[in-house]
Amino acid sequence: MTLPKTGRDKESILAELKERRRGDVDWRSGKVWGYIYDPGEETLEVGKQAYMMYLTENALDPSAFPSLLRLENEVVGLVARQLRGDAEVVGNFTSGGTESIICAVKAARDWAREKKPHIKNPKIILPTTAHAAFQKAAHYLDLIPVLVEVDPSRFTADPAKMDAACDEDTIMLVGSAPSYAHGTIDPIPALSEIALRRDLWLHTDACVGGWLLPYFRELGVEMPAYDFTVPGVRSISVDLHKYAFCPKGASTVLYRNKALRKYQIFTCTTWTGYSIVNPTVQSSKSGGPLAAAWAVLNFVGELGYLSLAKRALSSTRRVAEGIKAIPGLHLLAEPHMNLLAFGSDEVSVFHLSDLMKAKGWTLQPQLAYGGSKENIHLSINPASDAQVEPFLQDLAQCAVAARAYQQSALPEMAKEALSSMDPAMLTPEMIEQILAMGGMGGFALPKEMAEVNATLNGLSPELRKRLLTEFLNALFTQQGDAPA
Ligand SMILES: *Cc1c(COP(=O)(O)O)cnc(C)c1O
Repeated sequence: MTLPKTGRDKESILAELKERRRGDVDWRSGKVWGYIYDPGEETLEVGKQAYMMYLTENALDPSAFPSLLRLENEVVGLVARQLRGDAEVVGNFTSGGTESIICAVKAARDWAREKKPHIKNPKIILPTTAHAAFQKAAHYLDLIPVLVEVDPSRFTADPAKMDAACDEDTIMLVGSAPSYAHGTIDPIPALSEIALRRDLWLHTDACVGGWLLPYFRELGVEMPAYDFTVPGVRSISVDLHKYAFCPKGASTVLYRNKALRKYQIFTCTTWTGYSIVNPTVQSSKSGGPLAAAWAVLNFVGELGYLSLAKRALSSTRRVAEGIKAIPGLHLLAEPHMNLLAFGSDEVSVFHLSDLMKAKGWTLQPQLAYGGSKENIHLSINPASDAQVEPFLQDLAQCAVAARAYQQSALPEMAKEALSSMDPAMLTPEMIEQILAMGGMGGFALPKEMAEVNATLNGLSPELRKRLLTEFLNALFTQQGDAPA
C-alpha cells in the first residue's frame, strides 16, 4: 500500500475497514469459545464509550492527568478486595497479563539482586501449566526458567516436584489460579509453605481467574486458597480484559506491600528529557483502557458479576457433562472455572476442531506438551449460554465425522524425516519445504488447520519453535504488496 497523496475521505476509509473485518471470526455469534470475553451488548457499549472519552489522555504522567491516577488507584483497590488483601496491598494497572507478569518477574529479580546478591544465574520454577508469559519474562529478563511436570490426573502443580527442583539459584515460584490451558487451580498453600521455608518469591497468576473466582467461591465451587490470605504469596496478576469483561488492554499486578512493589518501578534521571518514573513497561499510554475498566466494573457491579459467574458456571457444567457423554471424548482435568480442555484417544482433535469450524465454531486446539496430550481448549462465556445445546449437538456429530480422519500419514512422515534433525541446522529452503508439507506453504495463513496442527504436534518442541518462528517472521511482511 502507498500513503495517499491527499488524505482519503472518512466515509470510504471506515467503510473499507468494515469490509475488511468480514473475514474475521464473528464473535457476536456466541460461537467463538476463545479469544473473546463477552458480557453482552450493553456492557460492551459502556466500556466503549468510556474508552473513547479517555482515548487521547496520556497515563504517562499522573501529575498532568490526576483523574487517571485516581481511576488507577480505585481499580487496583477493587482488585485487592477480590484478592482479600489488607490495606498494605498495592498494585498497578497494565496493558495485559503478559505485562503484569513481566512486572512481577522483574520485581522478583530485582528483589533477589538486592537480598541474595550471591545468585548470579537466577532461576524461576514453573509448572508446565504456567502461562508462556513467564517464559517470555524469563527470556526478556535473562532468568532461567525451570519447567516442572504437573500432577497428570489433575493438571495442577506438584509441590514435591517443585520443591525438589529448587536449588541455591532459585528466586521465584509460580502457581496459577487457574491455569489457562486446563482451568485448574494449583495448590498455592503448599507452594507458599515452600516459598516461606526457602525465602522465595511466590507469584499467583490469577490473570484469567482473579476477578471472577470469588463469585464462583460464593456459588459453592470448592477451591484451594490462592490469594493474599496465603502468607507466602508476594504478588498476583489479575486481568480485567478477560473475565472482568473490560475492553482489551486491561490488567493489574498487585503486591503484598509497597516494599515489594518498589522493585517493579523504573526511574531514569540520566538523559536530557523529562524525568522518567514508570511503574510498568509502557510509558506513554492511552487512558482509554483504564477508564473503560473503571466504567465496566462500576456498571456491572457485585450482583452483575455474581450473575455472570452463575451463567458461566451452569454453562460450563452442562458443557463438561455433555462432553463426557460423547463417545470417545473426555476432559483432561476437572476445571475449577469456566475454562477447560478436552481430548480423545479415538479421534483426531485437530480434525474435530476443523469440522467444528466448518459449522461456525471457533475453538482453540492445544498441542501436546509434557503430560498433556493434544486437546481442544474452551473458554466459556456467560453470553454463550444459549449456544450450549447447539454446541454439544454439533460436537457429537463432528466427533463421529472425525473418525474418518483418524489416520493422517503426513505427520508420521514428517516426524520420521525430522526427528533426527537438529533444528539449528535447518536451512531456509528446508523450512519452506516442511511448512509446505504441513499445509503452510507459501507462508500464507492456511484454511484448514488439522494437518498443520497434527504435523506440529508430531515434532519436538524445539523444532516446533523453529518452524513457528520462521512462519511468523514470513507472515508479517510487505512482499507482494507492491505499489499499485
Ligand atoms: C491470558 C493469560 C495470561 C496472559 O495474558 P495476556 O493478557 O494474553 O497477555 C497469563 N496467564 C494466564 C493464566 C492467562 O490466562
